[in-house]
Amino acid sequence: MKNLKLIHKVFIGLVSGIIVGALLYPMKENPIVSKYIVSGLFEFLGQGFLRLVKMIIVPLVFASLVTGTAAMNDVKKLGRIGIKTLAFFMGTTAIGIIAAIVGANILKPGAGIVLENVQKAQYVAKETDSFVKVLLNIIPTNPIEALVKGEMLQVIFFAVMTGFVITILGEKANRLQGIFEEVNSLMLKMVSLIMELAPFGIFGLIGKTFITLGWAAMKPLASFIIVTYILLLFHGLVVYQILLRVYAKESPVAFLKKILAPMTLAFSTSSSAACIPLSLKTLKEEFNVEEKISSFTIPLGATINMDGTAIMQGVATVFIAQLYNIHLTTNDYFMVVLTAVLASIGTAGVPGVGTIMLSMVLSQVGLPLEGIGMILAVDRIVDMGRTTVNITGDLVCSVIIDRIEKRAENAEEKVQGKVAAKI
Ligand code: ASP
Repeated sequence: MKNLKLIHKVFIGLVSGIIVGALLYPMKENPIVSKYIVSGLFEFLGQGFLRLVKMIIVPLVFASLVTGTAAMNDVKKLGRIGIKTLAFFMGTTAIGIIAAIVGANILKPGAGIVLENVQKAQYVAKETDSFVKVLLNIIPTNPIEALVKGEMLQVIFFAVMTGFVITILGEKANRLQGIFEEVNSLMLKMVSLIMELAPFGIFGLIGKTFITLGWAAMKPLASFIIVTYILLLFHGLVVYQILLRVYAKESPVAFLKKILAPMTLAFSTSSSAACIPLSLKTLKEEFNVEEKISSFTIPLGATINMDGTAIMQGVATVFIAQLYNIHLTTNDYFMVVLTAVLASIGTAGVPGVGTIMLSMVLSQVGLPLEGIGMILAVDRIVDMGRTTVNITGDLVCSVIIDRIEKRAENAEEKVQGKVAAKI
């Protein structure tokens, strides 16, 4: 086990979790299995690992983002990276949901399904915040509270400001900058140590998911699940790979191989936020991405970039419209795209939120919110796939921005070299 790479160990954890979980599924009512395996072994391994990961997210994001911004040393550069990142996030989310709407209209997941056969979970509609409120909420009124509560956008805002002001202060803040750099190294080392336990954590998380999955509820919704997965795969294997080839000159197969570990973690935790530490580590070790870029793109992406979630929402909208025989116009679809892109910003990177946010999209075009109850019944299995796509998008974006910036820096150096030579 010692000589295996993390990717292989994580994969063994995933496969053995699936096998053990699925094998024990028929015995899930057995008191010994439910007490000692589901609530005992699986719970301890899965939640123990997840808690360790959550423990490091806030200090890691804060320290690495302060260090990254301070190292940027240039406001213009920060703005340039920020705009490119946001454009990439929004653009790919829009591509994802448009493809999902077109694909679901062709594949028709809702056709031929008898409504009565579909199990419904309890769904209570929640109020969603207005866009202005979402924007205002990015500014923390109390940064300590933001850190304590793990409000990621607020933490990002405060960390970027801190890093920026450290740059302005220059020499006066040298010691402070050094402290943040040391805290950052400390957190990264902690990530490496905790990731040694990832195979066991993933085994517990996925084992519990497979033993508790409602297979019976899934059958009537199989077409919804399959169509969503087809479109998720299209986004992950075609759209991202074309972008990577064009903008980062990366080979798609090599890229996917290198990110297997964070992808597996996303699949088993259904949480983009939980993948932040491993994504940062992977970008550094496998792709040599500058920390000042990944420390910005990864936490931000885990919080606002949800292509997989938007794809699910696109398929779900078409699916529910087909189930209830409601015709949607081109205008309606346009509203769906717009709302889903905005909703993905407000979707937290934790399990299940994307389906709750679906209410925003459905009510925008007058579709029955009851449909969400049906989808909730099979949510976990779809969440695993969409979270994997969500974090893949963040990784793709980081590599692309890094390569674009490096090319720009090289070009700048060349020009400066020529000017110096002339002088
Ligand atoms: N679980 C997703 C994530 O963390 C969010 C969602 O779609 O529910 O990325």
